[in-house]
Amino acid sequence: MSNPALDPREAPAAVTRRSQGGHRPLGARSGAPSYRAISGEQLLRLPQLDRLSWRTRMAMRAVTRVLPFRANHYVIDQLIDWDRVPDDPIFQLVFPQPAMLEVADRARLHRLERAGEASALAAAVRSLRWRLNPHPAGQVEHNVPTFEGRRLHGLQHKYSETVLFFPAQGQTCHAYCSYCFRWPQFVGVDDLQFASREVGELVGYLRAHPEVTSVLITGGDPLIMRAALLRRYLEPLLRANLPGLTSIRIGTKSVAYWPQRFVSDRDADEVLRLFEEVVASGKSLAVMAHYSHPRELSTAVAQRALARIQSTGAVVRCQAPLIKHVNDDAATWAELWRTEVRLGAVPYYMFVARDTGPREYFEVPLVRAWTIYRDALAAVSGLARTVRGPSMSTTAGKVVIDGVATVHGAQVLVLRYLQARDPAWVGRPFFAALDAQASWFTHLRPAAGSPRLFFDAETARPSARLITLRTGMA
Ligand code: SF4
Repeated sequence: MSNPALDPREAPAAVTRRSQGGHRPLGARSGAPSYRAISGEQLLRLPQLDRLSWRTRMAMRAVTRVLPFRANHYVIDQLIDWDRVPDDPIFQLVFPQPAMLEVADRARLHRLERAGEASALAAAVRSLRWRLNPHPAGQVEHNVPTFEGRRLHGLQHKYSETVLFFPAQGQTCHAYCSYCFRWPQFVGVDDLQFASREVGELVGYLRAHPEVTSVLITGGDPLIMRAALLRRYLEPLLRANLPGLTSIRIGTKSVAYWPQRFVSDRDADEVLRLFEEVVASGKSLAVMAHYSHPRELSTAVAQRALARIQSTGAVVRCQAPLIKHVNDDAATWAELWRTEVRLGAVPYYMFVARDTGPREYFEVPLVRAWTIYRDALAAVSGLARTVRGPSMSTTAGKVVIDGVATVHGAQVLVLRYLQARDPAWVGRPFFAALDAQASWFTHLRPAAGSPRLFFDAETARPSARLITLRTGMA
């Protein structure tokens, strides 16, 4: 398939560091911007932060000891409106905020640091991380499959038709979202790290599981990998004879945080050619693009990246969580969905922020989340109403809030599983007692007469039939 977006004047530069491993960015074409990460250690040296008080900057630094921080110059120079800081949504999206940790916890970290008590500081950081619920929704207990007697730590198989694959070199991102639910991966809480270098394991698992129709390659951000490495993961999937596998999805925020990945990085064209090969193989390729705010789509390079991806035949589906301080109003979502549609992408999911990390800072009550969703949906054309939400990724599955209703005189939240470990649960409406403060599924209680089954994490375990399928053991 030809690629009309590959302007002949943009002939791909030679890939000069092909033999290097890892996810180190390959650099840019001559004259194009180079990716440069900004870490927690560099935070206090950023001149843009001088406008904030010393106390605020020290508090931000304390937060970066516990939670991951990474930005880059594109995000800092082109996406953040520094005149609006600290309220600017992209600043809130990427930079640590003092209120993400309790005042007393920050003070303790300061004290230990000033006293030079390195091991006590490390212990305090560890204990704070564990307080932040680093592995929500039973990811470790329920989702990691067993195959031929071994747990496959780079895979998750939660829903029967979809497998998630976490390539080892794709477990970082061009910048980190301060609300990221995969934050433990970035701070080295090692036993929680999902990652594999073994695409052979994935292929073997898929062969044994013909019920799987879709593989989601995810991270971190798999598109932080250079093209040659990405190819090593994708090609075996294309070459293996897996007739049941109809789609490959790649989850990414590079379209927002480093769109140069598809435009001017040395191997940008190589990535696009790889996308074309996936499409030419007869499988559908979906780029699951994480856009949190319309500003991420406002730059020329972001729009060019989207056009180039679409020119390969890949479908771009857009998703993001609803986050206080970032995008917690209907007008922002309506503008985001309209922009996505105008640029040819498909609005796909609005998620509820997961119950991990500094979620109290970001959480939006479920009733308010649904109101924002409804108001935004009412403001866009039918073409943008492809979006589903607000959806919670719970232990049992993806629960969408369909609205508030009155049943037998009582106000209830109407809920439904969009996806479930037990496929029999999918699409069946159920009701929770209305609780205006609830911000996560576990805060809800069944409404009178509604089955308790759907609220119980224990019943969320895969049915015996699925356990048999996934382990190959009766
Ligand atoms: S892009 Fe995704 S994985 Fe990376 S920090 Fe943001 S939410 Fe986390």
